[in-house]
Amino acid sequence: MFISDNSKITEKGGKKFVTDVTCPFDGSACDDIVCEVENNEIIAVYNACKVGTANFLPCKGAERFTTPLWRESKKDAFKPITWDEALDKAADILIKAKHPLLFGWSETSVEAIREGVRLTELVSGTIDGQVTHCHGPSVQAIQEVGYAGATLGEVKNRADMIVYWGCNPMNAHARHMSRYSTYVSGFFRRHGRQERKLIVIDPRHTDTAKLADQWIQIEMGSDYEIFETLRAIIRGAKISKESVGGVPIATWKQLAEDMKASSYGAIFFGLGLTHSAAKKNSVAAAIGLTQDLCGITKWQIMPLRGHYNVTGLNQVLSWMTGYPYGVNFARGFPRYNIGEFTGVDLLNRKEVDAMLNIAADPGAHLPQKAVQRIAEIPLIACDIHPTPTTELANLIIPGTHDGIEAEASCYRMDGIPIHMRKVVDPPAGCAESNAVWLGKLVEIVEKKLGIPHV
Ligand code: SF4
Repeated sequence: MFISDNSKITEKGGKKFVTDVTCPFDGSACDDIVCEVENNEIIAVYNACKVGTANFLPCKGAERFTTPLWRESKKDAFKPITWDEALDKAADILIKAKHPLLFGWSETSVEAIREGVRLTELVSGTIDGQVTHCHGPSVQAIQEVGYAGATLGEVKNRADMIVYWGCNPMNAHARHMSRYSTYVSGFFRRHGRQERKLIVIDPRHTDTAKLADQWIQIEMGSDYEIFETLRAIIRGAKISKESVGGVPIATWKQLAEDMKASSYGAIFFGLGLTHSAAKKNSVAAAIGLTQDLCGITKWQIMPLRGHYNVTGLNQVLSWMTGYPYGVNFARGFPRYNIGEFTGVDLLNRKEVDAMLNIAADPGAHLPQKAVQRIAEIPLIACDIHPTPTTELANLIIPGTHDGIEAEASCYRMDGIPIHMRKVVDPPAGCAESNAVWLGKLVEIVEKKLGIPHV
């Protein structure tokens, strides 16, 4: 239950301004957005980056699902059905399946994910999301060696050295540097950029690298070796090699000295590291370096999470089941085994016989073999607009844009829960929020299975 704060809404000349809105796009979850609203339509957006702004503004000309659509066979055309019929059909598909996969979740609310976990347990299915193939190895590394983390607020207020490793926030998280890490003025860093050293380590000369004080161009896939080299240098070991990762050892020695000399350093990493040759071992080595540095000064490390609530999926699953992703309920209790219960693997091995997809587009992003399986099995797809995934569906559920059309919560990339303000009503025909229709589906499934509602 949310308590709406009307002090964040002002009315002027027939227009409504909603302040402190959270941008439901990437893991930065910027919560300083202002939306100008007229006749229940967002007409202007302030403070957001270009991508964030486009996310808020209505997509003129794009089809919006506002009624559930059904087809018995995937060769048939879709026909509109009522919400009651849609939820009844969704319940039947999930109950009838021997092993349903409930997939996605990274672009919907914490409240919706919570209902999704309950639903997966009821139908003895598996719940998983985009995290498996984005920062899944980072999560594995954290499970193995721990996490020298911090909040983005701490970085903003204290950091005097920022390292972006295998990531390009200027393109992927456009306000990350200006709001949290590099340019922003902080409590102990009043002069923002002037008090911070920016290092970019990447094989490519990215837009972020162009802004750096130092860009270190490394050989693709050499990350693990570099982290272990830096750790050895910091521990005072003698290095006999002349270069590591295509970079002279003198450069690494200087970087190690700079890192030790900083009073608060922050490493941010992206998929360029997570999916480099040694995968989770590269991330574990990066965390190890951070832990070593913490013995000398203060450093933190953080993955740059992509979707705005991909961290939320890990968090909700962890507090409800004890596991962060790829959770299976076939035996009535949660089990977790990467490769066995992760979405792509289950689809590739044809081990799932029905699927509910929400707030993800696996039809566009998963490997061909997995998509072929999605095309073969009954698919319930919840989305706002048509996507390659909805093209494969039997049942399309109209999605609600949580965080814009519904009050909701998400977890920012640093694991901080963020409240998301409602700005406009969803279009007529859509549910109040994704959590609302999922909650109703849970109740229908419980009724059909004769399980009392808790
Ligand atoms: S950086 Fe990301 S979260 Fe922030 S406004 Fe841009 S798209 Fe939205």
